[in-house]
Amino acid sequence: MTPTATPIHDVIGVGFGPSNMALAIALEELSQASGKSLDALFLDKQQHYRWHGDTLADGSEMQISFLKDLVSLRNPTSPYSFINYLHQHGRLIDFINLSTFYPCRMEFNDYLGWVAEQFADRARYGQEVVHIEPGVNEGVVDHLQVLSRDSEGQEQLYRARSVVVSTGGTAKIPGLFAGFKDDQRVFHHSRYLFGIRQLPCSQGAPMRIAIIGSGQSAAEAFMDLHENFPSVRVDMITRASAMKPADDTPFVNEVFAPAATDLMFSLSPEGQKQLLGEYRNTNYSVVDPSLIERIYGVLYRQKVSNRFRHSLLCRQQVQAVTSTPEGLVLTLRDLSSGQENTHRYDAVILATGYERNTHRNLLAPLKGYLQDYTVGRDYRVLTSPELKATIYLQGFCENTHGLSDTLLSVLPVRSEEIGKSLYRTLEKNAAPAPLTRLHAEIAAGA
Ligand SMILES: Cc1cc2nc3c(=O)[nH]c(=O)nc-3n(C[C@H](O)[C@H](O)[C@H](O)COP(=O)(O)OP(=O)(O)OC[C@H]3O[C@@H](n4cnc5c(N)ncnc54)[C@H](O)[C@@H]3O)c2cc1C
Repeated sequence: MTPTATPIHDVIGVGFGPSNMALAIALEELSQASGKSLDALFLDKQQHYRWHGDTLADGSEMQISFLKDLVSLRNPTSPYSFINYLHQHGRLIDFINLSTFYPCRMEFNDYLGWVAEQFADRARYGQEVVHIEPGVNEGVVDHLQVLSRDSEGQEQLYRARSVVVSTGGTAKIPGLFAGFKDDQRVFHHSRYLFGIRQLPCSQGAPMRIAIIGSGQSAAEAFMDLHENFPSVRVDMITRASAMKPADDTPFVNEVFAPAATDLMFSLSPEGQKQLLGEYRNTNYSVVDPSLIERIYGVLYRQKVSNRFRHSLLCRQQVQAVTSTPEGLVLTLRDLSSGQENTHRYDAVILATGYERNTHRNLLAPLKGYLQDYTVGRDYRVLTSPELKATIYLQGFCENTHGLSDTLLSVLPVRSEEIGKSLYRTLEKNAAPAPLTRLHAEIAAGA
């Protein structure tokens, strides 16, 4: 289709994970309230929806209450709540009997898939957005051209008056391992289940595996290998002095409340940096305390039986990695003594976290119009006046909006804030049209 023959949607959501699913629900509610619905389309590169699908090991659990689903904080009566999902699947009573706020991640993935199915008419899967470009009309950018590619490399052009970029994080690969991209013995935790299936240990062959990192992902991989792969010996390698607990205590948890976003946004850049640093141990390089206790128990029982299968190697910096016919040789530097030792492994799992910069790559063609990807309180990217089309970011605003930004914590509230802002800006940019009372309220920012 030529650009001019392509329909212009009101909004295109790039990525259809929890952030944009929450937005789809919020837009549905706003349309019911205002009597005017926006023409929204969501594009996702996955063929079918999965929530971090290759990390869903049997024992992995949520780090957040199920009440922080896609809707309940804003609208506990929504049909898209986790409780309604349980009810619809005939498991509400069994879930209550579990006496937990923390479902397994496999179940939350199923919940999200159930929501996604209900928006199937507004979603296109297998569409990886590669660029978002200006659509110029009489000197102003009044729409955006969203270019995507399917798994066969076929390109498709979409157009919209607004885009909401919610593409999540991408695997952070330490520089030393960059050259091992095509080596199936080295993989990031985001590909854990797939990666393990390619290794001989999945057929019961003995293997020595190094896990780099000591955060939640590393701990989950450790426990999965311990419980489900008896032929595997694991070394967990970390620069930290110990495996540290995630602070989930109630006063600290208030940093994830919607009101904390206002506080964070009101601070100076130094204040924001200081607050992020103060609460870092709620989310980064930390592990759920009950999982720490289970791992400690595993290592303790090795001491009792005097049969040593796994190790936790703390204060160790990976200095070099070389591929030999016998395996992968890691040179580790002891951060206390400065001494270097080599260790041979059959595979290495990089539990080294995630980066958040895809928005910069996707929006690069618009860079000249943007104020270095800075966003306002409504998550709208600040732009020069020639850019009338609007761009919103979800999951890339941690520095200004706080630690919840990359998590599930404030999704119901954030999606409504973005939804209302979308109504306002689309209304402003469009020719005047009669408004219903509720719609007028939204347009006025009520
Ligand atoms: C293993 C793991 C466990 C987690 N557990 C928790 C937890 O327990 N509690 C919590 O609060 N948070 C957790 N998180 C944080 C996580 O970021 C949020 O839970 C949530 O997934 C954020 O939703 P999102 O839609 O912003 O991003 P994502 O869930 O990452 O979704 C992004 C979507 O965009 C798609 N996409 C990416 N690039 C493109 C592109 N170029 N074109 C088209 N589509 C694209 C992806 O396929 C994906 O479906 C976890 C994260 C990980 C990695």
